[in-house]
Order: sequence, then structure tokens, then C-alpha cells
Amino acid sequence: MNAPSTSAPSWKFEPLDPRSAAMIDPDGSQVRYGSSVFAPFFHEDDLAAPGVDRVRVRVRWLGTAGFALEFQGTTVLFDPYVTRASLLRCITSRLVPDAAAIAAHTPRADAIVVGHTHFDHALDVPAIAALTGAQVYGSRSAVTLCRASGLPEARLHDVEGSPGSDPVVAEVGPFELRFHPSAHSRLALGRVPFPGEIADCDHVPLRAEGYRCGAVFAVEIRVAGRTILHLGSAELIDATLGVREPDLLLLCAAGWTSSRDLPERVARAITPRAVLLSHWDDFFRSIDKPARPLPAMKLHHLVERLGRANRDAKVGIVPLLGGVWV
Ligand SMILES: [Zn+2]
Repeated sequence: MNAPSTSAPSWKFEPLDPRSAAMIDPDGSQVRYGSSVFAPFFHEDDLAAPGVDRVRVRVRWLGTAGFALEFQGTTVLFDPYVTRASLLRCITSRLVPDAAAIAAHTPRADAIVVGHTHFDHALDVPAIAALTGAQVYGSRSAVTLCRASGLPEARLHDVEGSPGSDPVVAEVGPFELRFHPSAHSRLALGRVPFPGEIADCDHVPLRAEGYRCGAVFAVEIRVAGRTILHLGSAELIDATLGVREPDLLLLCAAGWTSSRDLPERVARAITPRAVLLSHWDDFFRSIDKPARPLPAMKLHHLVERLGRANRDAKVGIVPLLGGVWV
């Protein structure tokens, strides 16, 4: 665990100079923009409910929108992507999972949830499922992808449901998962990148553009009396989401500036008690190096606006492969 060791409340931060580039200090304790510093890093106990030792849920960030949630021996992964192929490889080659990174960083999983099927959410899923024996929950595109990769049908779960029906619910050990229809940020010149479905997987491995978005889910997780919400893209369907005051929102930062008033809508529609930001990192960089914020994410603005819109919520990040107890 490489969480910072300072004791100051980590969600308090200083103003930033948005003109300067964002860097994380070598010790991983704070994000620095030029000469300005802000340190919205959660310490691992910052979000833990008081007086409930031994029944805490472990939330570990795997980079991008990837998380591992662990409770009493059961592990559920969300959008795990540890291969982090270089930009050159993404442009020029078919994408192949990094078996060594997968073995090192996602050695066990009882279930894998795929929020949508862009490559930075879905590329590693079949390989992790093959390694761990995990069940896979996702869209028809996710099922198609996993089927083409040779996973047995019995472990593949299409959770799209029929239009207008209640969200599909699944149980994985102590976890209850509810798959709310959601939306993807229109981050590519006002459009969803690589839209449509993965309908034909005869040519696995695919190139990056073959990983079509498919259906998008906001995943409500109930475990040990806590509610956690995973938003793997920086967009939501406010009117129908129906998840209020979760203990923790796992919120994707990538593309948030393309989603009108996202921080304020999150505050109104969800009112989370805490927000752990994801997908702000340069995911063309190896998982074995510290996370580097992409300046285009404007992380400091997102933190400020979420904090202003939702004053009671703690808003922060964790180091790559770091985590919090909830
Ligand atoms: Zn995406």
C-alpha cells in the first residue's frame, strides 16, 4: 500500500494554477500543478465508518475506471484494465492483454463487471476471467467479446435487460449488484467515441476501434450495509438513476468537461457522501509507474466544482493501486 503518510485531512487542498502541467510528486502524496499544490488524496481510513472494524469493504483503484472491491474473501472487479497499452500500440496494432500485469495486479476475482466495452474498460476482462475463473457481468457486447475469447457460456451474464424493465440485479457472495442503464460522455468532438456494439468478434484480438462502446451501466453495489456507485463514464441519466446518497461514488473524470454541468448534476441527482475520482490518469503509461494526471482532465476544476456543489461530500483520489476502506 503506497498511501501517503501525512495526517492532515486529505480532501482539503490549495487553489491551483490551471495553466501549469499536472504532476504527482515522486512520493505519490500529492498532485502538483506547477508551483501550486493540491492534495486531495484520501488516506485509507478517511472514508471508513467509525466503530465498525472488521466489517469494512476494501476499495482499491486499478487505474482508469478500474476498481477491486473486496469483502470477506469475495473480490469483484470493475472495468479492470492493467495492460495500459502505449498510444503507439493503440494506434498501430491489435491489442493484446499483458499477461504479466494481469497476473501481478488482478490475481483473483470472483466476478468482473464491465461498465461498457471500450478497450480501456474491456480489453483485459476475458484474460482476467480465464485466469481467475470469474463470472462476467456486462452488456451484450461484453458477452460477445468474452464468448469470442473462449470463455464458457455459463460464466457470461448479459445484464442489459429489456427496455423499460427494472434494472437487472445479480448477487456475488455478499455483494448485490444492480445494473442501471447509463450513458457515455460525448468526449470526442461532441460524440461518443467508437459507438455501437461489438457484434462480430471473429477477429479477436481487436484493434482499439473494434472495442465498440455497447450498452453503458451505472452499477449500484450494496455490501455490508454500504452503498457504492460505479460510474465508468463521466455521464449519467439523472431522471432514472434512482441511487441517492451512496456512501461512495466511484466517478470517472475522463470526458467530464463534455458533459454539461456534470458536477452539479451529480450533486443533485446522487448527493454522494464521498467521491473517489477515477480515469484521470494517463492510461498509456505502465501500471508499474506512478499515475500521471492528464492535464486535459482538469482534475482540479472537477474537485472544486464537486466540492462546491456538494459541500458535505469528501472528494479525492488515491494513488495508483492504492485504496480506501469503506
Ligand atoms: Zn469509454
